[in-house]
Amino acid sequence: MELIKDGIRIDGRKKDELRDIKIEVGVLKRADGSAYVEWGMNKVYVAVYGPRELFPRFLRRSDKAVLQCKYNMASFSVDDRKRPGPDRRSVEISKVTRGALEPVVLTENFPESVINVNIEVVQAEAGTRCAGITAASVALADAGIPMKDLVPSCAAGKVGSEIILDLCKEEDNFGESDLPIAMIPRTGGISLLQMDGLMTAEELEEALNLVKKGCKIIYEKQKEALRKRYKGDDHD
Ligand code: ADP
Repeated sequence: MELIKDGIRIDGRKKDELRDIKIEVGVLKRADGSAYVEWGMNKVYVAVYGPRELFPRFLRRSDKAVLQCKYNMASFSVDDRKRPGPDRRSVEISKVTRGALEPVVLTENFPESVINVNIEVVQAEAGTRCAGITAASVALADAGIPMKDLVPSCAAGKVGSEIILDLCKEEDNFGESDLPIAMIPRTGGISLLQMDGLMTAEELEEALNLVKKGCKIIYEKQKEALRKRYKGDDHD
């Protein structure tokens, strides 16, 4: 399969183009904060609860809130039915999601408590961890939890000999490497960086530059979604 031809990718995008991304805030009534992201064909809901009392008590920390993240992919979210429930992949993604978000959340303001971040992928088409982190930071802000910044996240990768932004399913499956990254724009920090496959140092640099551009666009969309939610009084 030819994934890229004359600079045009299998889904018609250029090398440095993101898929279409739509972010909505406050979509779930029962959650303290929530967000929904449509990212290409990915569809991801995030519900945030807390800060609230943490049980069992022995998990509490006297110096800060515990940030619990749970990533789940619905069994109907992929082509072949996915076996429901946690698996190695979802445990890993939950862990790296917490790592990506924790640096921006002022957990020290809420000792003894827990903040729950539930990420539910209802349709998956590659890049769901980035979509989850992007949505989760917006949902945390929607919950009114004090934060230093939002966390935009996207991947770059290598397909053939080309470095490209935001891999789609075919590129993820048949490409050379995949590099999901989450950024903290205010400090220029990186709170998630994983790599599947191989890249040279120069390619990594090129990929990082692409991701920075992508995260800048996503950051604006995150802020715009929050502004839209809070500009009127019509929210409950
Ligand atoms: P990410 O979604 O963050 O890119 P992966 O690289 O692990 O995470 O997965 C890439 C894609 O592979 C997913 O977005 C999803 O479309 C698909 N996928 C993951 N797990 C399964 C599964 N158990 N069955 C079918 N497809 C899956």
